[in-house]
Amino acid sequence: MEVPSLPMFIMAVGGIGLEIASLFIMYKGQKESLNIRGSFWHVMNAFLGSIAVIIAATFISLWEIYVADAWAGILFAVILVWAAYGIIRDSFMILVDATPKEIDLAQVERELLAIPGVVNAHHFHARTVTGHIKTFSGHLVVRDFRDAESVLRKGKQILDEKYKFSLSTIQIEDESLAEADARELEYRESDERGTTFS
Ligand SMILES: [Zn+2]
Repeated sequence: MEVPSLPMFIMAVGGIGLEIASLFIMYKGQKESLNIRGSFWHVMNAFLGSIAVIIAATFISLWEIYVADAWAGILFAVILVWAAYGIIRDSFMILVDATPKEIDLAQVERELLAIPGVVNAHHFHARTVTGHIKTFSGHLVVRDFRDAESVLRKGKQILDEKYKFSLSTIQIEDESLAEADARELEYRESDERGTTFS
């Protein structure tokens, strides 16, 4: 079958200008937001498609190598499958409420337990909301409620400044709050560490 290489070429060159402009605009945002990353790769899809078409059109018009069209299509498909895999994986981690991969909850617990006045730490949950936005919630037991304010401030400081949680929720308790009923509500995310209770 005859492939009209000149119209192919003109259409592809026309599209590329717009696609490059769109990719520039979205480049920064796509690192932080999964939604923008989806859009970014949608445009990248069109951009790579245009490049593939230009290369195929060149091979066809200069050397009459018609199979170039098929090879360009295959290469294009492989790149998109690779990009889609990353987006699907990150979406899945959000969907199943997995602990953000750069957060070691056991280490967070050790640091919060080390705050003067804290005798127990439990019910820790860390989540990814979208892209790099992380939230944390957890309970800290103090021996003396007069330490509550300083424990809260130090805990917030560790979570916000060191671990970069966008939102942290800390419940301060004393040892009279046994929370026996909460035992059944407890679940852990992907880490295999045993659960602790007050
Ligand atoms: Zn508790």
